[in-house]
Amino acid sequence: IPLPNEIFGKSRRNSAGCDLSDPLVREPLLERLKAMESRDWTAKPTLGNGEARPVTSPVDRRIKIGTVFEPSAAEVDRMVEAADRAQPAWDALGGEARAKLLDRAADLYEEHAEEFFSLCTREAGKTLVDAVLEVREAVDFLRFYANEARRQFTTPLRLPGPTGEHNELRLHGRGVFAAISPWNFPLAIFTGLASAPLAAGNAVIAKPAGQTPLIGALAIDLMHKAGIPKAIVQLAPGSGQVVGGALTAHPQLAGVVFTGSNATARSINLTLANREGPIIPFIAETGGQNAMIVDSSALPEQVTRDVISSAFQSAGQRCSALRVLCVQDDVADSMLEMISGAMRALTIGDPADVRTDVGPVIDEGAKKALDDHLGELKTVGRLLTEIDLPAGTEHGYFVKPSMYEIKGLADLDREHFGPILHVVRWKSGQLDRLIADINATGYGLTLGLQSRIDTTRDYVEANARVGNLYVNRNQIGAVVESQPFGGEGLSGTGPKAGGPHYVARFATERVTCIDT
Ligand code: GLU
Repeated sequence: IPLPNEIFGKSRRNSAGCDLSDPLVREPLLERLKAMESRDWTAKPTLGNGEARPVTSPVDRRIKIGTVFEPSAAEVDRMVEAADRAQPAWDALGGEARAKLLDRAADLYEEHAEEFFSLCTREAGKTLVDAVLEVREAVDFLRFYANEARRQFTTPLRLPGPTGEHNELRLHGRGVFAAISPWNFPLAIFTGLASAPLAAGNAVIAKPAGQTPLIGALAIDLMHKAGIPKAIVQLAPGSGQVVGGALTAHPQLAGVVFTGSNATARSINLTLANREGPIIPFIAETGGQNAMIVDSSALPEQVTRDVISSAFQSAGQRCSALRVLCVQDDVADSMLEMISGAMRALTIGDPADVRTDVGPVIDEGAKKALDDHLGELKTVGRLLTEIDLPAGTEHGYFVKPSMYEIKGLADLDREHFGPILHVVRWKSGQLDRLIADINATGYGLTLGLQSRIDTTRDYVEANARVGNLYVNRNQIGAVVESQPFGGEGLSGTGPKAGGPHYVARFATERVTCIDT
């Protein structure tokens, strides 16, 4: 399959972001972000009024950042109907015209990057480093999917006509997609889930996570400023029950794209099965029980660096994050010693402070679930390291970064979405058993491998059922187009975000056959 850039001769550069290590960039930026802290943000549905609710910060629950207006189920219904009326004209625009508008939105995101940085740290509790990465990824999604619209939605595909007929295949938008996003990438995934169906000629109702409506509102506002019609991309902020429920039950909906928990994916699937109207596509990316396999040929310093970022960056709140470190017995003690030392150097606190490595988790429910799990681990596991929380974190949802040894992967019955690392030891000669245990979790998102042995890599590559395998590096931060992201089994339906097969999955295929 030719890559988009080969077809257009137009190379797409990944967004440059901003270099926080340069004091001449960083210091003035920090001052501007400080000045932005008093800003009062609002998220309003694109159509309708909604009911007001305050939005507070996970960093300090006493801080109100803004107000969200959440539409009722009836208002959501009207949004779907308006989108459905507008969609045919958007589809008829064609790939090139839609791509131009998505590119323009990407430019506007870059112009407004600092507002996103401010919101990402305050509304989502992301560190500044993560906030910069978040904006870059969102911009990359917009530009990549714009190129995909050019590649697949401008000229029809000519098909062979051995019978003398003229055969053509065209891709079209299906109608209205619901894009239901998570809070852990409130801009990047939110933008990716909205822009791919838009590129394919669909209208989109974008539902940001209940915890992060303000970031979503700014994103949609910039898409409108870029020239994407209001009826074509609409913001529907609110809860899964009311807004998500009304959207997914609507008989005029043409598809759902979702990233979030496995439980929510199942409940959406049930709603779709029971609703009136046609059977529609459901694209879901859910969680993982991600492992990293370390053997005795691995480089300890590299393992330490990669474990720390994989398990604790973003406070462990990435689907890709490392949950279970699997270390070969012979080297386990020395490796774990080094990892403990590196954990003790982690700075926990206010994510807006550039020195912070680990910020809060998203809300009270998340904190309680993780603290409960830490309580269980005290009896089923062996404590290796636990980092105390510093003063000043008591008003936010902070969780102690911790490392516990457990007997095996089967001890974990679900994903624990936070800064908790589990460790299992495996014996030399039993790699096949370890891979079988990893596959037996049923998840299949990311897998890390730290090994210098080619036959080990070949074996893991051939036998591990995972979407993204990372060898001798960390296992987070998939780059759009270079590392398409998504898993299999309990981790999702595919196709992979940022990959060459993604956008076409939002389209319907039509064939014309002309007998001359
Ligand atoms: N794409 C992100 C990464 O590679 C993870 C996305 C997610 O958490 O859903 O780290």
